[in-house]
Parts: sequence; structure tokens; C-alpha cells
Amino acid sequence: MQVPALFDYRRASSIDDALALLEQGGEEARLLAGGHSLLPMMKLRLATPETLIDINDLTELDYLRLEGGRAEGEVIAIGAMTRHATLLDSPLLAEHYRIFAEAERVIADPLVRNRGTVGGSLCQADPAEDLSAVCCALRAEAVIRSSSGTRTLPVRELDLGPYETAVQPTEILTEVRVPVRPGSGSAYAKVHRRAGDWAIAAAGAFVRLDGDTVVDAGLGLAALGAPGMTCGAAEEGLIGGPATAEAIDAAARQVTETVEPSTDQRGPADYKRHLAGELTRRVLRRAVARASGSEPQRGEH
Ligand SMILES: Cc1cc2nc3c(=O)[nH]c(=O)nc-3n(C[C@H](O)[C@H](O)[C@H](O)COP(=O)(O)OP(=O)(O)OC[C@H]3O[C@@H](n4cnc5c(N)ncnc54)[C@H](O)[C@@H]3O)c2cc1C
Repeated sequence: MQVPALFDYRRASSIDDALALLEQGGEEARLLAGGHSLLPMMKLRLATPETLIDINDLTELDYLRLEGGRAEGEVIAIGAMTRHATLLDSPLLAEHYRIFAEAERVIADPLVRNRGTVGGSLCQADPAEDLSAVCCALRAEAVIRSSSGTRTLPVRELDLGPYETAVQPTEILTEVRVPVRPGSGSAYAKVHRRAGDWAIAAAGAFVRLDGDTVVDAGLGLAALGAPGMTCGAAEEGLIGGPATAEAIDAAARQVTETVEPSTDQRGPADYKRHLAGELTRRVLRRAVARASGSEPQRGEH
């Protein structure tokens, strides 16, 4: 059986306590959220933190709510300790962004979804992470706290490379903020080898319409080697034009040409590149249909 190297275990009682423990532990301390990524890495000795700071008592970071009264309009605020299962079942997210439930349904299995957290998913920075792709598509913001204050960062700027983020060793990601966009539709699609597996390739999108015109659009791409997990050129090509099949095909082509997937045990790069275009086409079609209210209801043809 694989066992981790020796480590010291601390249990934080508040955000300030966790920040103080991080400062004491320095580079060799790591936060423990759901543990579904960190513990396997420790057992494989791919991570060897000297101190684990358990933040599971920080219930103040477990929330999902609509916040209004700000200059930028309403936002959905999601605390870092919110579990995947909460996102999957949330009526608030179902009302505004169906992309969340469609992604969550294909993340691992109920065991992982009951423990794995929003903060852990984003801070793990796995290139195939579905929730990161969703947050990149929606241009979500990450709220990051340290003992010297709070800063915000677009989630698209969080990943610095595989398993490396802009969150510093003495910082905690506390919240993800998603702007509410009335008149928008969103969708997520993933190809994986078997149920509960990581993506061979996945794509998410939102589209906001004014009549037939696309006034805003966002794309999120997982396991495809896309910088910022997105494709700005495809988004720009869509915005300001009509939401036609031709425009969607052009965006899908742009994604196919831009992504840089690598060949690995999940499939060859050419296959993933093909999937990138096809999945982009599918999620954009669904997002447009949802934004325009023309998506067939279940049972309709
Ligand atoms: C069998 C299996 C299948 C999976 N399949 C998928 C899948 O298909 N798609 C998918 O997207 N994911 C998948 N996952 C990953 C799953 O979503 C994990 O829950 C997630 O990656 C990590 O969340 P966690 O809360 O468990 O984080 P942890 O493992 O506790 O932590 C991960 C990293 O983030 C850091 N961290 C945690 N919280 C914070 C915070 N608030 N601020 C700063 N740093 C923090 C930790 O120090 C650690 O470095 C799978 C996992 C397993 C075990």
C-alpha cells in the first residue's frame, strides 16, 4: 500500500487561524480541503508537505448565494469550501447557469463530489479540471485572502501551469464570484473513457443574446492545452454578430486551430483537437438555444 511521508497535522478554527498556520508553515505547508487530489498525490510522494492545515471546520467558507447591490450587478458568490454536490443540486445555479450541473454530473462519482471542494478544484490546477473550465468560460473571479488583505483575480489568470497557481503559499482562495447575465444560456460537454473519469476533452460555453445578436460569449476548454483554458479569438469572433450556425462553426474552427493538446494515455493529440471543435460546436448550439428560449423541452422533438 502506498503511504505518504510523515507530516504534521493542524486543524484551523477560522480563516485567520488558517492564515497564521500557513505563515508558520511557510513553503512546506499545504491546505487540506476535500483531500481528493492532495492525499493521492501525497501517497504517491508527488507531494510531500511537512504540515497539512485542515480547513474542513471553516463552515464560513461553505455557501452559495446571490449577491446584489453592487455596481457590477448581481453576482453568484460561491465559498471555497462548497462541495461539488452542492453545485450539482443548486436551484440558483440551475436557474442562471446550467453549465454547472452539466459539468458536475460528469465529475468523478458521488463520493468525490460529496467531499471535493470548489477551492481545491481550482487550486489543484489540473489541466483536465472541469470546474476550472466552467469558471473560465463564465469569466469568474477568484477572491484570495492573506494576512495582509484581500485581492481578486480572474480565474483565467489563476493557473500558472499544470498544478501551479497564482495563489501564494501564505494565501487562501476564499470565494469564486460569477456575474449574473440575464438573457444568457450555457452548456457543458465532455468526452471521457468511462463514467467518472477525467476528460479526454471537454468544452463549456455561455452566450448572451440581444435579439439574434451575440452581445457576450465565453468559452472554457479542459484537457486541451488552451492558455487560460479558453479561446479569446473564438469569443471575439462571436460577439457582435448574429448567433447563426455559420458563426458557431467559425468559432469551433478557431478553437480547433488554437488548442494544443498533447498525446497521452487518454488519446492522441489529433483526436483531442477534433473533439475540441466538435464539443465547442455542441455547447455553443445548446447555449444559444437556451438563451433564445428555443431549446426543445424533454420529450419534444
Ligand atoms: C477518482 C477521482 C476522480 C476525479 N475525477 C474528476 C473529474 O472527472 N473532473 C474533475 O474536474 N475533477 C475530478 N477529480 C478531482 C476532484 O474534483 C477533486 O475534488 C478536486 O480536484 C480537488 O478538490 P479537493 O477539495 O479534494 O482538494 P484537495 O485535494 O484538498 O486540495 C487540492 C489542492 O488545492 C489546495 N487547496 C485546497 N483548498 C484551497 C483553498 N481554499 N485555497 C488555496 N489552496 C487550496 C490544496 O492545498 C491542494 O494543493 C477527481 C478526483 C478523484 C479522486
